[in-house]
Amino acid sequence: MRALAAAIDGMELPAVEKVAEAEADNAFQILIATLLSARTQDATTAAASARLFARARAPRALAALPVREIEKLIYPVSFYRNKAEHVKACCEMLLTRFGGRVPDTLEALVQLPGVGRKTANLVLILAFKSRENICVDTHVHRISNRLGWVATKNPEETEQALYRATRRHWWSSINLVLVTWGQNVCRPVHPRCGDCVIAADCPRIGVKARRQ
Ligand code: SF4
Repeated sequence: MRALAAAIDGMELPAVEKVAEAEADNAFQILIATLLSARTQDATTAAASARLFARARAPRALAALPVREIEKLIYPVSFYRNKAEHVKACCEMLLTRFGGRVPDTLEALVQLPGVGRKTANLVLILAFKSRENICVDTHVHRISNRLGWVATKNPEETEQALYRATRRHWWSSINLVLVTWGQNVCRPVHPRCGDCVIAADCPRIGVKARRQ
């Protein structure tokens, strides 16, 4: 982790991290940007978030928009129709059950429409500065298994295994470091092992084709 954390210095941050940097105290915008980011390219997430927040920046304003308008604002993020419904329903639940504020516990966050453990953990890390959570997406799941830190079948298993396999000190950084590394070097297909700072220590478990 130390080598990878140093190696990502200067690389472009994931879109949600950029929102979190720009809106450090705005848990709502971090939550919505995270919802939009699932299975979507960073540049698309960033542009969609900017269009949406230019139109409505708070739960009440966003909940008042028709789903069709939210769809148009966030298009072309993947699953934009589902995400538009989730964004509106999420805002409505924030207003009716949480006083218009983003809750700061995993148990409450996962009650929100469209919010699973991955999103909830990332919101806790980025918006509430938690150091007790690990956010596991496909990059974290893939790289942790390639490195042999875990031997798991899905992100949910990986999250639990990483709590056991890694030092607490790194938990809140694992997502930022491995997502950035996964977007730039340890890609899903043809990882750039020849450019990898930890190639000498990586068993490359499950890597079939790599770019030197
Ligand atoms: S050596 Fe290859 S598989 Fe291992 S972390 Fe680096 S890029 Fe990924």
